[in-house]
Amino acid sequence: MRILVVEDEAAIAQGLRFNFEQEGYQVDVTEDGPGALHLLETADPPIDLVVLDLMLPDMSGYETCRILRRSNPDVPVLALTARTLAEDKAQAFDVGVDQYMTKPFALPELLSRVRNLLDRRARMADQQRLAGVRRDIETFGSVTVDFARFQLTKDGKTTSLTTREQELLRYFLDHDGVVLSRARLQSDVWRDSTDITTRSIDNFVMRLRRMIEDDPSSPRHLTSIRGTGYRFVRDPDAENAQSRS
Ligand code: CA
Repeated sequence: MRILVVEDEAAIAQGLRFNFEQEGYQVDVTEDGPGALHLLETADPPIDLVVLDLMLPDMSGYETCRILRRSNPDVPVLALTARTLAEDKAQAFDVGVDQYMTKPFALPELLSRVRNLLDRRARMADQQRLAGVRRDIETFGSVTVDFARFQLTKDGKTTSLTTREQELLRYFLDHDGVVLSRARLQSDVWRDSTDITTRSIDNFVMRLRRMIEDDPSSPRHLTSIRGTGYRFVRDPDAENAQSRS
């Protein structure tokens, strides 16, 4: 397992490196956001987890996390900060931080959180592998989803899916016609992560709509249920015919 430490305070960075290496992890250290983004792009084997100080010079940890999430939706991010204000915490979760610890932190707790995040990631990878074995191609309407290739094709146009977009779409496909609350999506698709905001779920749904709907502003497959969440229907025409008869 490979951990990236993004921390401009050398003493803390070296302390973390030492302790992670004692635990058997491979460790990379960088002191700023651009360095972190570069390593996430180029590291081979890839980075499995990021420990991110939020108070960095120039590019803040918040901004770093926001950017890294575009290309790394699933890498666990554990934020470190001297700040304790609730709105800072909320902002951290908004940009895609998974866990949050305030400095000074207790090292055993930090190591335990890192282990939990890595375990969760391994479980998700297993589940995705199992899901991949189940069925690789799904079609509905004019959409074809190739789950093995993380690709969605509609009207001849192919889009790449992130792991999370694919998981969410699979979940909707598996629950054809069922009203799904945001809380349920949060628990079943985002598992035990309590850190995803409902706004982020809405953003994922909007992205899926742009991929699967003829008119994303007037969706037919993936509709909003006011005050609750969403409902996916594979074949809206059949459903409308049924409700008229
Ligand atoms: Ca700092």
